[in-house]
Parts: sequence; C-alpha cells; structure tokens
Amino acid sequence: MTEELFLKDAYLRKFEAGVVEPSGREVILDRTAFYPGGGGQPSDKGTLGVGPVRASVVDVRREGREVVHVLDNPIPDTVRNLRGELNWERRHAHMRHHTALHVLSGVIWKNFGAKVTGGQMRADRARMDFSFPKEWTTDVVGEIERLTNKALSEGRPVKAYELPREEALKNPDLIRTQVNLVPERVRVIRIVEIEGLDTQADGGTHVANTSEVGQIEITGHKSKGRHNKRVKFVLR
Ligand SMILES: [Zn+2]
Repeated sequence: MTEELFLKDAYLRKFEAGVVEPSGREVILDRTAFYPGGGGQPSDKGTLGVGPVRASVVDVRREGREVVHVLDNPIPDTVRNLRGELNWERRHAHMRHHTALHVLSGVIWKNFGAKVTGGQMRADRARMDFSFPKEWTTDVVGEIERLTNKALSEGRPVKAYELPREEALKNPDLIRTQVNLVPERVRVIRIVEIEGLDTQADGGTHVANTSEVGQIEITGHKSKGRHNKRVKFVLR
C-alpha cells in the first residue's frame, strides 16, 4: 500500500521513499507526493532519483491501493530508496484550476440552482459541464464570471479533511454533490470544503485559500443540449 502524501499536504513537492517493487520503468513506492490522476485532475510529472541515478516520471497511476510511477528510463533493481520531486509549476497550476472549478461549482449552485455534471483541468485551462435550468445567454455567462471572481477574491480558506461515511451522508451539500455514489466499501470519505461556498467529496489537490487562485476569465461557453451547458476558462 502506498501512503498518499498529497492527501495530507498538497504543498509537498519533495520527498524520500522506499522502493516496494522495482520493475524497470514502473516503480511502486511506500509513500509518494505524486498525484495519480482522477476527478478531472491530471497525474503529476517530475523526477525520481538517488545519486547518479535519475529518471523522469512521465505518468502516474493508481493500481488498487498502490501508486505506480512510470519512468522514461529504468531504475536499477538494487536501488532501495529514492528521492522524488514534482514538476511543481505544473502541479500548482492544477491546484489553482481545481479550486477554481469548486468555487465555480458553489457559485452556480447558490445563484442558479445548477448542478455540476463534469469537469476537467489542465495546467493552463479548465472546463466545466453542468445541468443548467435557465436560458443560456452571454449575460448569464458574464454574471457567472463576475460572481466567481468575487468569491475568489474573498480569500476563503480551503480545507481538506476526512469524515466517517455516516456523517458525510447527513450533510446536504455532500448529498447534492452525490457523496452517496462513493462506493459502499469506502468508510471514511475525504472532503474538500471551501468555507461558506462549496463542500464535496474529493480526492484531488487544492490551494489553501481562494485568493491563491487569482481570477477566472471565461474563454468559451456552449450549450450541449437543453440542460447540458459548458464553460471554459483560463486563470489570470
Ligand atoms: Zn474536485
């Protein structure tokens, strides 16, 4: 089992770990700060190495309860400990976009009663889909941008913590974001809460305060059916 250090400390960018299973270009560690991807957030990139041994991490994925690091060249089987370092600029950009998506989600729920149906982030852009019950006009999109930027600039703390499943199922915000769809075997659910705005079950990495996101600029919007709407944005 790999200890997922990013769940407790999203700002950890360097770490040391033991090699659990060396197999050439794919390495399983006993602990890692590399995010394996999921929930619309891409996996991290960076490096693993010790002394003269060094490889780039080109992909990361979860396999059961382990995190597999895919390397550009193999690490010798004799190596027992490695130092990892994230491509921090890229990861921090994912964190800013991820938190921006949650703020957007809270804003459109509170102001328009619209639920999110999907989202995806990159280091330089993000998009979100939602089920929007009202007319989809440029004015409405402009209003969404304005309200989101207002919420971002309010400097709201972003907290990640764990809740027992039974408690999570009592929280109306978590029910709205379909916490009940988390598999039954998961007894403790990780929550990401943006104070006074949005609370959801989430396994991703976020900035600690909305002021660290900056401001969004909506670069595109479209209607993909009567209820299904999409916005794309970049950060400024
Ligand atoms: Zn999320």
